[in-house]
Amino acid sequence: MKKIITILTIGVLALLAVGCSKTDSNSESKVNENGKIKITASIFPVAEITKAIGGDKVDVLTLVPKGQEPHHFEPNTGAFKELISSKMFIYNGLGMEEWLNDVSAKLKENNILSVDSSNGVDVLKDGDKIDPHVWLSLKQVQVQAKNIKDALVKEDPKNESYYNENYERFIKDCNDLYSEYKPKFEELKNKNFVTCHAAFGYLCRDFGLTQESVSSLYADGEPTPGKLQELVNYCKEHNVKVIFSGTLSEPKTSETLAKEVGAKVVKIYTLESQDDDKTYLEAMKYNLDTIYNSMK
Ligand SMILES: [Zn+2]
Repeated sequence: MKKIITILTIGVLALLAVGCSKTDSNSESKVNENGKIKITASIFPVAEITKAIGGDKVDVLTLVPKGQEPHHFEPNTGAFKELISSKMFIYNGLGMEEWLNDVSAKLKENNILSVDSSNGVDVLKDGDKIDPHVWLSLKQVQVQAKNIKDALVKEDPKNESYYNENYERFIKDCNDLYSEYKPKFEELKNKNFVTCHAAFGYLCRDFGLTQESVSSLYADGEPTPGKLQELVNYCKEHNVKVIFSGTLSEPKTSETLAKEVGAKVVKIYTLESQDDDKTYLEAMKYNLDTIYNSMK
């Protein structure tokens, strides 16, 4: 009998808990005057996916400002204020937001739903380091999109079919782009390219390519003379004609390397910050097209 009462009590408590959280999530306090859900995304690609799925139901602010390198970002007071006035905080995960631990208690205190968009992705490692640039995979970004869609549905269930529709469209666009370039890259003999910042590991895995980079995985500045010589040898050996450079990187090293091996420097988008007002899919198409053309 005692056991039954305990089970009943737990059941009632569980129901109460569900009831409470429901009331909280229906609170309108963090919805903008225009009725849109106020969301803070940590970095540009996460904001892009959120906008693609949330459409006109969401107001998305990107925490890392345009033109700023996100690996060593830390939110200042202004950014922090924006963050805690949001209803949801969506981040990339995989260690991209090194400052996350510093704010997680405050997020909880302020009842902000935190969403780890990379939960469940097929993680790529370089030695024992996790590669955080998961959005550069047209396949893994779909896991991020699913996590974001699920969070939006949870927060705003009455618009479930709207979010589902946008999500399906985003998935289709990613798959279409993937299918367009998969056979193209398969036909190529040369599958090596050189970039300024080793952000393209996931893209390489999707398409069976190999990247060599001027700076390390975490954008930690210029290479040593030894590493530079290694890159020169690599470029000569693999007949590399193009050195890719992101707009956030220091172009000098790429230029030095290009000059040394008779290659040219061409722009590529890591998408770590918005460039040239391109959407996620536009920038990905540009990347694939540009990489493909440099290898043909
Ligand atoms: Zn990076």
